[in-house]
Amino acid sequence: MGTTTYDFADETVIVTGGTSGIGREVARRFGEAGATVIVADIREQPKEDDESAPTHELVEDAGGRATFVETDVSDPDDVGAVVEAAREFGGVDVMVNNAAIYRHGTLLETDADAFDQVLAINVRGVFAGCRAAARDMLDRGEPGSIVNTASISSEYAQIGHTMYDASKGAVMMLTRVAALELARYDVRVNAVAPGIIETTFGSGNPDFERTVGDGFILEDAELPDLDAQEIETDIPMGRRGSTEDVAGSYLFLASDDAAYVTGHLLYVDGGYQII
Ligand code: NAD
Repeated sequence: MGTTTYDFADETVIVTGGTSGIGREVARRFGEAGATVIVADIREQPKEDDESAPTHELVEDAGGRATFVETDVSDPDDVGAVVEAAREFGGVDVMVNNAAIYRHGTLLETDADAFDQVLAINVRGVFAGCRAAARDMLDRGEPGSIVNTASISSEYAQIGHTMYDASKGAVMMLTRVAALELARYDVRVNAVAPGIIETTFGSGNPDFERTVGDGFILEDAELPDLDAQEIETDIPMGRRGSTEDVAGSYLFLASDDAAYVTGHLLYVDGGYQII
């Protein structure tokens, strides 16, 4: 079967949310392909108590160059600064807008501040990343590629996913609109839509917080248990995906092999979207 070897030598890649999970493996794979990777995240260590090497070291071990820039993607100035930082390496060629958080809550129990927080990170962050990268590419006259992280939640609703599903639906449409507007400048914009991937996203994540408010608190019994996901029935391939399963698609979409692909949502989900 074999795996694809990409060549991103002389290319600069920004990966938001690159400290842990999917972003970490995406950054490592770009490093393996010889890229200069800027890891843009609110934290440098995967978790506060985690002693594993930060992603930029992993990228260098894999053969790339790397740096970490502390970035809160919900702040467009921070995102602008990280794109500016890429100028030191010749400017951003590939922008991976991947950072996101999950907060749990049904429509009835979700408070507006929590909703705003999720949308600020998951949607405004992607908007700011697309805009800053595209402006920079056009300023330099060097079009590149943007890859956003969408989700199966971009098109499939689940109980308790009010904030997250709304945000990922928006990421899908943002990807399409940006692709439409930027096509004439040869800037391609695509999205990877992972299925259920083995990361600490959700309850194991330091950003996770169950959100209730406004007096609407449902009995737990009425909510699905996130851990009781029917893996075998929900996922045709019968297993969760690994970060390795997902990462290659980012390199494909960013590469010249995908030179005529834009506005596309690429499911990497073991067939979840079929049923
Ligand atoms: P993760 O929690 O391991 O990684 C998310 C990263 O984003 C973390 O490093 C975190 O520090 C960072 N981050 C959070 N808020 C940030 C902010 N304001 N600014 C900058 N960085 C911030 O989770 P993951 O599973 O690797 O998720 C990565 C992406 O994949 C997300 O967009 C998520 O929605 C998406 N996704 C994950 C799954 C899954 O099952 N794990 C499924 C579909 C989509």
